[in-house]
Amino acid sequence: MPSDTMPLLVASGVDAGYGTMQVLWGVDLDVRPGETVLLLGANGAGKTTFLKSLVGLIDARQGSIRLGGDDITQMRSSDRMRRGMTYMSELAVFPDLSIEENIRIGAQALGHANPNRRLDELYGLFPVLRDKRRDAASTLSGGQRKMLGMAKAMAAEPKLLVLDEPSAGLSPLFVKEVIRILRDLQGRGIALLVAEQNIGFLEVATRVFVLEGGRIRFSGTVAEMSDNEALRRAYFGLK
Ligand code: ATP
Repeated sequence: MPSDTMPLLVASGVDAGYGTMQVLWGVDLDVRPGETVLLLGANGAGKTTFLKSLVGLIDARQGSIRLGGDDITQMRSSDRMRRGMTYMSELAVFPDLSIEENIRIGAQALGHANPNRRLDELYGLFPVLRDKRRDAASTLSGGQRKMLGMAKAMAAEPKLLVLDEPSAGLSPLFVKEVIRILRDLQGRGIALLVAEQNIGFLEVATRVFVLEGGRIRFSGTVAEMSDNEALRRAYFGLK
């Protein structure tokens, strides 16, 4: 298989949960290099649980996770990050640290040869952060914090950026700004896996996986999703 069509990430049959509660049931999902996959699901569907199992913050109880062809199911989180998968959680930043300190922490895994050049590149992408770089992250607005979360994740130079609800808590205007940034990252060839309940993110997705009650109910292109009457009704509010 040519390397550009070989999946970058493949999760197969992933079960996960907390204590005696099983949350995920046999979840299959893949992301190809440079593509944007949307994991769509309501509150409590298990999106965060799945992303955490991908990045190694909780264990997959069954199934396997492969990154770049290698089995990473048992690998610790920091090693998965070194292999090119970075996670942006819903909270994402350390509020007491300055903006620049947050970004430097994001780059730590790399032992970057020239961290200042990397900072300059990131400030180019998020100019508002340059102006405030010495301020504590807690002084940022919700939208700006989200940008800092993305800058921090990008500092690790991921091949695959995994984003947990980047729209959470943001006004529609900032959601548009986040979508603009995701487009910019797409243009740089970075693969994105975005967990969301906001269907606005369909406009940047190449493929969609719908998670309901911890199971994948649908996977396909956005066009295939809108051809599916039940999904159309559930997610687009259309008859
Ligand atoms: P949200 O949009 O609310 O984040 P989600 O799709 O990301 O939803 P999860 O956060 O993965 O869903 O939650 C799935 C289920 O797991 C829910 O029933 C939730 O209450 C439960 N859960 C999540 N985290 C924990 C935890 N640390 N301990 C126990 N149960 C948890």
